[in-house]
Amino acid sequence: MNLHHQGVGLFKSIDDIDMQVQGSAAIAANPLPSALPETIFSGKNLAEWREYLSELDWVPDLGVEIGSPTWFRGLVTLTALCGFAISCLPDFGPIAGHRADPLSGFRADQARSQMIAPLAYGSDTGIRMAATDAVRPLAESPERPSIELVATLGRGDSLRRVLQRAGVASDEAAQANDLISGAVSLGDIKPGTKIDVVLGRRPAKNQARPLDQLAFRARFDLNLEILRDGSQLKLNRKPILVDDTPLRIKGTVGSSLYRSARAAGAPADAVQKYLQVIGSKMSVSRDIRSTDEFDIILSYRRAETGEVEVGDLIYAGLERGGKAQAQMLRWQSGGRTNWFEASGVGQSNGELARPTNGRITSNYGMRRHPILRYKRMHSGMDFGGGYGAPIYAVTDGKVVHAGRKGGFGNYVRLQHSGGLASGYGHMSRIAVSNGRRVRKGQIIGYIGSTGLSTGPHLHYELYRGGRTINPRSVKFVERAQLGGQELRKFKGELQKLQRVEPGAALTTLKSASAQAEPEREINRLNKPLKS
Ligand SMILES: [Zn+2]
Repeated sequence: MNLHHQGVGLFKSIDDIDMQVQGSAAIAANPLPSALPETIFSGKNLAEWREYLSELDWVPDLGVEIGSPTWFRGLVTLTALCGFAISCLPDFGPIAGHRADPLSGFRADQARSQMIAPLAYGSDTGIRMAATDAVRPLAESPERPSIELVATLGRGDSLRRVLQRAGVASDEAAQANDLISGAVSLGDIKPGTKIDVVLGRRPAKNQARPLDQLAFRARFDLNLEILRDGSQLKLNRKPILVDDTPLRIKGTVGSSLYRSARAAGAPADAVQKYLQVIGSKMSVSRDIRSTDEFDIILSYRRAETGEVEVGDLIYAGLERGGKAQAQMLRWQSGGRTNWFEASGVGQSNGELARPTNGRITSNYGMRRHPILRYKRMHSGMDFGGGYGAPIYAVTDGKVVHAGRKGGFGNYVRLQHSGGLASGYGHMSRIAVSNGRRVRKGQIIGYIGSTGLSTGPHLHYELYRGGRTINPRSVKFVERAQLGGQELRKFKGELQKLQRVEPGAALTTLKSASAQAEPEREINRLNKPLKS
């Protein structure tokens, strides 16, 4: 009681002081309204409480009398209310719901009958039933009357094996193989060729199905078909119309020859080859102007069925103001393909080939001899590569020595054009004979250790006018001149190519078989009637 009275008195007095003094000293002297709850809850005198509570300003204006005890009390009230409101915020966690019980037994069977699932996942429909007396087992399951399948010829595969893999009996596979080999060379059939095979009804289950039909594209210009005719197989050749008008691409060089030619439709490797060929005649970066016209001709084949085979570059030309700056034609001469100018002069720049694939172990120049142990001139280059590795002719030439020669052991010397000759020593075996002509890259012998040698290696020398020179110093230029009959043929081919219109190879190919096809009734109806 006492306490309660004091509490009420205290509050009243605070309010009084507030009104009168409004000083900071007064606030400090009085305890805060936090003492209030103690007095409220311990009190029993209801009438007094009611009076007190009705007079009490629960929500003082916090905008005025800032810092006064009443203001602080209001602040505490506000904070408490805010805290209460925040504590009442709803939780946004998931709401637990009812989960369906897993289906089992009869219900599971019923549900499963209604779903669609792959067989691999155990799909079945309906309720399983045990076989009743009404179920009679089949004596034999029915077979498909014919099977159509596609077999693919693999790399290094044989046609016969492919057919046998597809299920054709070995004698029939052999028969088909013979028929096909009579029509085309089997080696010409490209790996990856798809073969349509139709197998017929077999007389008994322990026998292979007979081959009813077989069809595939044997060559770019030939379809082959094998049909059953009674007990025999019959081959049908179905030629495909093929047009081999070369593809000519002409255009202005512009800022970049490469990009312009690519934009005009030339394949990347053809443009690279073109630049290489033109580069042998002139400098691509300096001598070609942006107003020049490039002229690229590629070998090109297209079949009536729509396939296209783009071949290699066969002509490279450059024109300036309608005048030819370069005309290079690919030509086979003496078993070799080379690029020739319009005049029939061929040119191929190139270094000498490597005489063997091994690495260079010793260069041309002064060195301490490994056996004789004094400083002397090494008159050639040494190559490693192991015993028996092949040795190649560095360029075309004629064998002028093939046999033993002192410290060189087994030695071959080739005479080339332009006063050059090359020598190959220490061979284990010689593969050419004296007086023979050899081509660049041809095998002339094998690495060995004959003669004055510490181990298997090739001692390679190059001579000019009979004296050794550093093999690294020579860059070869081969020149060939066409003449007589060959030159006339060459010029004829050049003229023929130059008559080809750019884009002539891209026109629609008139198909002989398409014309033969009868006109369909529906198309005839749509045509206007002739009067
Ligand atoms: Zn040597």
